[in-house]
Amino acid sequence: MEELEKIKQKALQDHIPIIMDDTLAVMEKYLKESKPEKILEIGTAVGYSAMCFSKFLAPNGRIDTIEREEEMLKQAKENLKKVGLEDKVHIYEGDAVEILPTLNEKYDMIFIDAAKGKYPFFLAEALRMIKINGIIFADNILYKGYVLSDYNKHKQRTAVRNLREYIKEVEENEFLETQILEVGDGLAISKKIK
Ligand code: SAH
Ligand code: MG
Repeated sequence: MEELEKIKQKALQDHIPIIMDDTLAVMEKYLKESKPEKILEIGTAVGYSAMCFSKFLAPNGRIDTIEREEEMLKQAKENLKKVGLEDKVHIYEGDAVEILPTLNEKYDMIFIDAAKGKYPFFLAEALRMIKINGIIFADNILYKGYVLSDYNKHKQRTAVRNLREYIKEVEENEFLETQILEVGDGLAISKKIK
């Protein structure tokens, strides 16, 4: 079995919420067209999505990715080494809420895939760093369908409220052109048009 496939199977077995196949397929279409030089990912987990994206990087392209969980960091580093991507993918270790404000780069693509309650904050930081014609993707934007239903109870209430806020903000932002797709757990695709 190919190394990437092994990493994927182990992550699924360990119930790590890696990107779903249909979501990845949609993103790959954009990646193929744009051949990004710089990608920012919020939420590395074991490095699976970063490895998938790396196939579409421009020749000197790089991925910056942020993760706060020790165990995930350990596995992500091992995995990136195994597939020889440790020089193309830079992992920032710590909470994205603290790390993002310290970054001052411009990215062609930003993938938001971490704490749902922080999506509006991640969006504000992404807007500061996305290039014109760049794309901001947000995974899990429909969160098991809760976001579009009248769901407003239980402990996921804050997450749902913040995901709804994210959708409202990207749809109202005149600098973005947004699509919300019902693939996987929901994917928001926002292109910075001006
Ligand atoms: N992008 C990965 C999956 C990420 S799962 C893939 O598709 O392969 C979400 C990850 O985000 C988890 O590992 C979790 O620890 C991390 N995370 C959640 N909130 C975070 C935060 N505020 N800062 C950094 N990492 C965070
Ligand atoms: Mg996800």
